[in-house]
Amino acid sequence: MTSSEELFQRARALMPGGVNSPVRAFGSVGGTPPFMVSGRGPYLTDADGREYVDLVCSWGPALLGHAHPEVLAAVHAAVDRGLSFGASTPAESDLAELVAGRVGAVERLRMVSTGTEATMTAVRLARGFTGRNLIIKFAGCYHGHLDGLLAAAGSGVATLALPGSAGVTAATAAETLVLPYNDLAAVEEAFAARGQDIAAVITEAAPANMGVVEPGEGFNAALSRITAEHGALLIFDEVLTGFRTGYAGYWGLTGGAPGASAPFVPDLLTFGKVIGGGMPVAALGGRADVMDYLAPVGPVYQAGTLSGNPIAMAAGVATLTHATPAVYEFIDARSAQLSAAVSEALSAAGVDHSIQRAGNLFSVAFGTSAHGVRNYADAQAQESFRYAPFFHAMLDAGVYLPPSVFEAWFLSAAHDDAAMEHILSALPAAAKAAAAA
Ligand code: PMP
Repeated sequence: MTSSEELFQRARALMPGGVNSPVRAFGSVGGTPPFMVSGRGPYLTDADGREYVDLVCSWGPALLGHAHPEVLAAVHAAVDRGLSFGASTPAESDLAELVAGRVGAVERLRMVSTGTEATMTAVRLARGFTGRNLIIKFAGCYHGHLDGLLAAAGSGVATLALPGSAGVTAATAAETLVLPYNDLAAVEEAFAARGQDIAAVITEAAPANMGVVEPGEGFNAALSRITAEHGALLIFDEVLTGFRTGYAGYWGLTGGAPGASAPFVPDLLTFGKVIGGGMPVAALGGRADVMDYLAPVGPVYQAGTLSGNPIAMAAGVATLTHATPAVYEFIDARSAQLSAAVSEALSAAGVDHSIQRAGNLFSVAFGTSAHGVRNYADAQAQESFRYAPFFHAMLDAGVYLPPSVFEAWFLSAAHDDAAMEHILSALPAAAKAAAAA
């Protein structure tokens, strides 16, 4: 028995499914998940001493690669000053300034510890600000595990083929309207029918939890226009895309870019993942008049014992400081190189597929070359059975991919030529395994 097998057995007796977050259990790809003991640059090392090139990157946060020396130094320095004070610290404003300096739509920011908290607070704030109850979300978008947004959620909910979640009351579910992604007519219809009751539309800046799906040209801008026309808010979830798809996130690449064809300003934005560089940090931010509805200024309550934790802030500040425009150019180029190589290997093996892309995020969808994936129905209709053999061939060759076809592949600034060569050389055999499925 390998050490990972032993560790998984032990963990399964202690934790549901042996994990603290479902997709880690390899439910859809099968097999024993390797237990990781360290990471450096583009590599992870498991409990059996096997090394992998990592294409999960902690599901996004490891933008600079694992154990980046200057991020670690900042964390070490912060640790030496104490772990948590339950009082305000200068580093909270340091990180908030970095975020607001990069994302012009952020006039005020509140730090929380997980993406779920950020979206949960954004939804409560939108309801408190507008005095309305209904929220629109799109099928296949994942915004964390808050009750109201689990309906037709992507990520692990999609991987495990769950319709939503047990334990969510019918009353709560009824306050969420789920619409097909990329379907503006459905949004217009929902507002025509119930506009007076809709507090907000929440959307992933670019969906990456049903595999990657690119928002149609002008889709996000139209959401901004429609919500504004009806006195509702647009909550732009950049937990995954923020500071990963570009210096100012996906909004900076598209709606917030100077000269953008359809400029718009979301009312609220949520961040997570990269903003903490691997420590538990997330945030919501946006319009000052809306954000000032939060306690202690306004009537919408939200709090957190460890919010703005000084060690986590230090990791976030160091990560964003080193996430320069050059880092994004590098990751963009690596993403183009890798996605082209994956496509070439699959084509050579005769596997029908599309590369789904939004900025530097990409994923592979099998059997979808006819029109790609535009929404959750397309994502679910793909030949997802081809992913498990592909995934395991890559894992056997020492490449750690996301263990679900519904997740994006994550690169980092540390994915150097040697790491890329390693990945590329593993692709042909994995493509053949996918073809044989
Ligand atoms: N929103 C999006 C777009 C996400 O991708 C995620 C996590 N994958 C979340 C929210 C929830 O973040 P967390 O897991 O930190 O609660």
